[in-house]
Amino acid sequence: MMVGKEKAKAVIVGGSIAGISTAHALISAGWDVVLIEKTSAPPTGSPTGAGLGLDPLSQQIIQSWLPLPHFLHNTTLPLTIDQNQATDSEKKISKTLTRDECFNFRAAYWADLHGLLYNALPPSVFLWGHLFLSFHVVDFKGSITTKVKVLKTGEVINIVGDLLVAADGCLSSVRQKYLPDFKLRYSGYCAWRGVLDFSKIEDSDTITGIRKAYPELGKCLYFDLGSGTHAVFYELLNKKLNWIWYVNQPEPQVKNFFSGKLCDDESKWRHD
Ligand SMILES: Cc1cc2nc3c(=O)[nH]c(=O)nc-3n(C[C@H](O)[C@H](O)[C@H](O)COP(=O)(O)OP(=O)(O)OC[C@H]3O[C@@H](n4cnc5c(N)ncnc54)[C@H](O)[C@@H]3O)c2cc1C
Repeated sequence: MMVGKEKAKAVIVGGSIAGISTAHALISAGWDVVLIEKTSAPPTGSPTGAGLGLDPLSQQIIQSWLPLPHFLHNTTLPLTIDQNQATDSEKKISKTLTRDECFNFRAAYWADLHGLLYNALPPSVFLWGHLFLSFHVVDFKGSITTKVKVLKTGEVINIVGDLLVAADGCLSSVRQKYLPDFKLRYSGYCAWRGVLDFSKIEDSDTITGIRKAYPELGKCLYFDLGSGTHAVFYELLNKKLNWIWYVNQPEPQVKNFFSGKLCDDESKWRHD
């Protein structure tokens, strides 16, 4: 809401892909934005991170936020094909189930995409090393007040805005406060993921074997189903391989996980 000629102000909690994208969208729409992130500084040259598949609409939107639209193409690889296959790991035979040759996604490395979006925003938007604690709505004004801890000094400050955006991840503490009865649902599998930098082992048996099993890496997203398991592979720019491995299993009992305490205690980026 605009008050007189003043810009409305949004407070965004979380400086990962969702938070930083929301900051772009709101600034483009004429909002003032302040983004609160508990990590002490912007990630630079991060060796860790996940792969992200960007659909055509996401590419178009991200390009509109960048100083030059081709920056996105220069930082990503094409994912022209989407192939679902079933693999019999004992017989080592794969059978194609579905194949979409007009997939038109692009494969981004989290750290590259984050850097691209971050560098296209004014640094004054970000409050690094600030931990969101709580919020309340000031009814008669329709505004919100957030309580935020400055981690370096321990000081607790109030930040007032017209809109609160919860971009603080799947264990969102904003959601826990706003929807305390909402319970996360277990998906039926556990997953591991990572990004392998193979620049120094390009001719190794491992990489040769992977390329043989997945010959269209570099333009194809492979979704490989096995018995009680499935895996996703695609290549990223600069000789990196994104992998995710899922194993069907009963819900593990991880202490405090769904209460969000695990998330709050973390001081590093979750993308490793
Ligand atoms: C195994 C696995 C595989 C996945 N594979 C893919 C994939 O292939 N492609 C894909 O698109 N997605 C994938 N995802 C999902 C992806 O990781 C998430 O969708 C993505 O990270 C969500 O981004 P986000 O910005 O919403 O949240 P996050 O990346 O979780 O960021 C939340 C941010 O909020 C900050 N924060 C949290 N609490 C506070 C607080 N109290 N105060 C201040 N800051 C706070 C955190 O430090 C963090 O920076 C996968 C997830 C998992 C677990």
